[in-house]
Amino acid sequence: MLDADFFRRWMTATAASVDREAERLTALDSPIGDADHGSNLQRGFTAVIATLEKEAPDTPGAILMLAGRQLISTVGGASGPLYGTLLRRTGKALGDAAEVGEEQLAEALRAGVDAVMQLGGAAPGDKTMIDALVPAVDALGDSFGAARAAAEQGALATTPLQARKGRASYLGERSIGHQDPGATSSALLIAGLVEAADE
Ligand code: ADP
Ligand code: MG
Repeated sequence: MLDADFFRRWMTATAASVDREAERLTALDSPIGDADHGSNLQRGFTAVIATLEKEAPDTPGAILMLAGRQLISTVGGASGPLYGTLLRRTGKALGDAAEVGEEQLAEALRAGVDAVMQLGGAAPGDKTMIDALVPAVDALGDSFGAARAAAEQGALATTPLQARKGRASYLGERSIGHQDPGATSSALLIAGLVEAADE
């Protein structure tokens, strides 16, 4: 079973990898965006960790809902409301249970990803974070490791795509040949599950 500590470790691991990879995420957002994705998420996840320490929510659902709310209020870019919605909706689906099973988390994340697609209007293949998140959720029934691999593969597979949503879509065909920054950071979020489980 996955308890509140697991979810805190997930957020901590994600914040650490976002910190480590911030420059790369911003560099990916340079040719097909406005070069702020790394700094956006760094600001957001730093605020998430601070709020989790201060408010100390004690259930998986409450942790993710608070984290999502914090991302929405601190990340200026498009990715803030999208990641915020992902975590809030996932947290809401977990309800107020003290511990949840891996299957329950997979179902909740599915609801979260659906909410992101509804909010942003992106479908798989549009060269967004959805291209990492959907395959990850599909593989989550197998294992966290399988989900991580699927997310990384999904992020890499955005390179030859033409962007149909978000800032990169303004570039039309010139968005082809660049890996999507949001799909790349989504793979970090999913990798955080493996780290949280390993500790
Ligand atoms: P902004 O584009 O406002 O500068 P960021 O740079 O932080 O925001 O995030 C850009 C990322 O957000 C993109 O790489 C893409 O993955 C994701 N994104 C943008 N628009 C959408 C959307 N409508 N649906 C899903 N993801 C999106
Ligand atoms: Mg940007």
